[in-house]
Amino acid sequence: MKIGTPKEILADEDRVAMTPASAKDLQKLGYTCVIETGAGAKAGFSDQSYKDAGVEVVKTGAALFKAADIVAKVRPPTDTEVKRLRKDQTLISFFYPAQNEKLMADANAKGATVIAMDMVPRISRAQKMDALSSMANIAGYRAVIEAGNNFGRFFTGQITAAGKVPPAKVLVVGAGVAGLAAIGTATSLGAMTYAFDVRPEVAEQVESMGAEFVFLDFEEEQQDGASTGGYASVSSPEFAAAQLAKFRELAPDMDIVITTALIPGRDAPELWTKDMVDAMKPGSVIVDLAAERGGNCKLTVKDEKIVTENGVTIIGYTDFPSRMAAQSSTLYATNIRHMMTDLTPEKDGKPVHDMEDDVIRGATATHAGEVTFPPPPPKVQ
Ligand code: NAD
Repeated sequence: MKIGTPKEILADEDRVAMTPASAKDLQKLGYTCVIETGAGAKAGFSDQSYKDAGVEVVKTGAALFKAADIVAKVRPPTDTEVKRLRKDQTLISFFYPAQNEKLMADANAKGATVIAMDMVPRISRAQKMDALSSMANIAGYRAVIEAGNNFGRFFTGQITAAGKVPPAKVLVVGAGVAGLAAIGTATSLGAMTYAFDVRPEVAEQVESMGAEFVFLDFEEEQQDGASTGGYASVSSPEFAAAQLAKFRELAPDMDIVITTALIPGRDAPELWTKDMVDAMKPGSVIVDLAAERGGNCKLTVKDEKIVTENGVTIIGYTDFPSRMAAQSSTLYATNIRHMMTDLTPEKDGKPVHDMEDDVIRGATATHAGEVTFPPPPPKVQ
């Protein structure tokens, strides 16, 4: 069968779901590969590099959808792309089925199978296909680079002939995948890094990366907002108040604040209030990785960079992985290739859609004429 990747339609999306290297691996699984002309250009992959990897290049998105049995892309399909789907075709992409019910119903009406990369269960066996994690890792890294680009000083402390420079102080709020990547990047640049999370179990990970975990002076400690299935749940009002009091204390001292706090299925919790921004020094930078879901910082403007009256830069970009398109395309294409490996047990270019397989079942939003989202909880962890 044939796997194809169209050019992403969204204006600011520079990623591509197939690279020349992933195409070679897909061919080892027995597939032939096809790509729309220019699909990899913004990620640094020319048409010629695909041709050299044995990939057929077609001229239009319409031709691509016609040629491919399996369409792999990054963003959820547009209405035009859904119209191009056909019976027994498989679409693999980020899909966010809970937020895209109509799109899912339309794809199902076309008889297509939809595999949502954002629905891959977060169990050990599926880590190699966990595109949420591979993209969050990039976002965390890039958030620090973006902060550095807008911060007028060094991260690392220096003693030079021209004077003594103190290290920058970085606070990372939320130590999940993106937060840990941000911590690793900030400490490796020499900053003094602090981190907070409602899940106490991450304290050890934070400390092992050279950062200081911020504990609250709160009776039930971080346990109060602790996890459900590895994720955070909503904090009690008392816990939330203790958290804000701690942040208020830290705000004047922090040069860079990276916020990444999310609770599944909810708007981002508001954790960095206006008075905290007001208390920060001029030249400080906030990067709000939760901007897509409303932001952790009260003043964040989605997709924009603003500078407050007191000189604090607040970055609300939501396209960090796309800003590192070469890296993110490479990792995402590898996530897709691993998904295809699991779908192709015989390596014969023929996918077997095994709905008894936790990972395939979990990621499948529509199949064989049925909407199969939401999936049951995975049997194994
Ligand atoms: P996420 O993006 O949903 O949330 C980011 C972080 O924000 C989380 O660490 C969360 O605890 C934290 N948070 C929520 N509310 C907060 C608040 N009020 N204050 C401070 N922090 C707050 O999370 P994620 O990065 O996708 O990962 C969450 C969990 O899933 C982690 O335990 C991670 O290790 C686990 N995980 C497991 C696998 C796997 O086993 N395959 C893969 C990825 C992630």
